[in-house]
Amino acid sequence: MRMNRNRMAAKSSKLSKLGEFGLINSIQSQCRNTNSSVLLGIGDDAAAVTAQKDHTLITSDMMIEGVHFDLSFTTFHQLGYKFLAVNISDILAMGGKPEHFIVSIGVPDTVNAKDIEDLYSGILKIANKYNVSIIGGDTCASLQGLVLSGTLTGNARHFVTRSGARVGDSIYVTNTLGDSAMGLKLLNKRRKRVHKFTPSSPGLRVIKKHLMPDPAPLGTVPALTSMIDISDGLLIDLSHICDKSKVGAMIYKERIPLSKELTISAKKVGIDPYLFALKGGEDYALLFTAPENNKIKAIKIGEIIKKGRYIIDSSGKRSTFKPEGYDHFDNTARNSQGNRIE
Ligand code: ADP
Ligand code: MG
Repeated sequence: MRMNRNRMAAKSSKLSKLGEFGLINSIQSQCRNTNSSVLLGIGDDAAAVTAQKDHTLITSDMMIEGVHFDLSFTTFHQLGYKFLAVNISDILAMGGKPEHFIVSIGVPDTVNAKDIEDLYSGILKIANKYNVSIIGGDTCASLQGLVLSGTLTGNARHFVTRSGARVGDSIYVTNTLGDSAMGLKLLNKRRKRVHKFTPSSPGLRVIKKHLMPDPAPLGTVPALTSMIDISDGLLIDLSHICDKSKVGAMIYKERIPLSKELTISAKKVGIDPYLFALKGGEDYALLFTAPENNKIKAIKIGEIIKKGRYIIDSSGKRSTFKPEGYDHFDNTARNSQGNRIE
């Protein structure tokens, strides 16, 4: 940590030499790959894009150094990648297609021009996967830590909310859960950046899921009734669906999909992997409800019921769940939502 900070401090003069406009110019030349909907990207007082026939979705997320990320654990490239990934996840959770990204940054004098270039290389890496154009933003100095604020637009013919779940619907998730929280736990132990994920190991694979999550769109689901992305943890995010839809939920613990790498890593550190899967957060998988249908390519973990929120384990034991994140069962460090975690 200290070494990185000193290294950055030594190079910081470069950014002040470059100045705000020099920095914006270099960001502009890095972000030229706009798609055809962009009439005017970075460089004027506002961007201009062609209007959509469908609905426009708009989402915003902030990431603040010391609250959401630690620069001694993440590279700027990884940070940029995750910054757009979390915004993409919100658009996908509405059933939309991500489109235009606006990036505002507050930059402390410990960060240099190369760091900002690396940050944008990470943003562009995932932007290119999703055909997202970076069309503008704002740049200012920060007196305390790096501040990122991103606004992403998307479009959808039909958007899906949290509030449509109906009694009798099945509850599905699109991916394994808990990997990211396990990755953060391992990063907290290593206390240094990971620059290469090869040769791969179970530990590095969960760390990668934490640092560079890859949200994926939901395929076609007949009669989809509600959806949310799992950012705060399965129990919290399922509770959001229950609250908004005014229904209850029953989930079967052993049906929650766990990756092999989570199971292996959790065994090594002596922790129940289901704690991560239920309460860890930052999975950026989708959680949705729909009438049961064997054409749905996702993992069914439970059902929507009239009232109450229950987890049933393999022995048939039923317990009530609350909208709990990781912080309620451990309090020695913080995860990226600011919850205490270790
Ligand atoms: P103004 O003073 O009119 O707000 P700026 O000088 O802040 O204009 O910005 C000039 C152009 O650069 C605008 O198109 C703006 O959207 C873009 N821009 C500024 N900062 C960033 C950034 N960090 N990332 C992407 N685009 C940016
Ligand atoms: Mg401005």
